[in-house]
Amino acid sequence: MWDVAIVGGGPSGLTAAIHLVWHRRRVVVLDRATGPLFFTLEKLWNVPGLPGATGVEIQKRLKAQAVEQGAVVERASVARAGGAVVSQRGDTNVPGVWVAGDLRPMTQQVAVAMGTGNVAAVMIDQYLRKRDIAAGCGG
Ligand SMILES: Cc1cc2nc3c(=O)[nH]c(=O)nc-3n(C[C@H](O)[C@H](O)[C@H](O)COP(=O)(O)OP(=O)(O)OC[C@H]3O[C@@H](n4cnc5c(N)ncnc54)[C@H](O)[C@@H]3O)c2cc1C
Repeated sequence: MWDVAIVGGGPSGLTAAIHLVWHRRRVVVLDRATGPLFFTLEKLWNVPGLPGATGVEIQKRLKAQAVEQGAVVERASVARAGGAVVSQRGDTNVPGVWVAGDLRPMTQQVAVAMGTGNVAAVMIDQYLRKRDIAAGCGG
């Protein structure tokens, strides 16, 4: 049913979802809703396009945008199943799995999370295109 399952509905996961649904991918975001922004009532001033918004507002806006565009966001806690080796580009040693946001070894900020979420989404879309072409059902 789904083309892509995203674990985590923070800025990185929701940004990835927004890109992928724009590319007509069927996307489910599984989120246990315990990220830092859910509880941040202080205003963040360094998020491009959203100056002076609280963490909660940023979360709500990103989620609304993802859902409006067609992503499904479900409350779920995904069990951890072993570790993956992550490269600087966010790809891993597990085929079909990418990592973004604070799980990447770089500065932990909302803008970085969004950027790496978008990079992961582009890589995932390319992966799916190649897979579809190999299966003779896309291109
Ligand atoms: C107090 C505080 C203040 C901050 N202030 C700023 C600031 O002013 N400016 C700034 O740019 N950044 C700030 N940050 C950093 C910023 O919040 C993070 O860099 C950003 O939220 C990372 O986004 P993310 O999507 O990678 O992860 P998160 O925002 O952590 O989102 C991850 C999501 O995944 C979910 N999740 C995790 N594991 C699972 C699982 N196993 N199954 C299902 N769901 C799961 C979590 O519940 C969460 O919803 C602040 C952080 C904190 C804690």
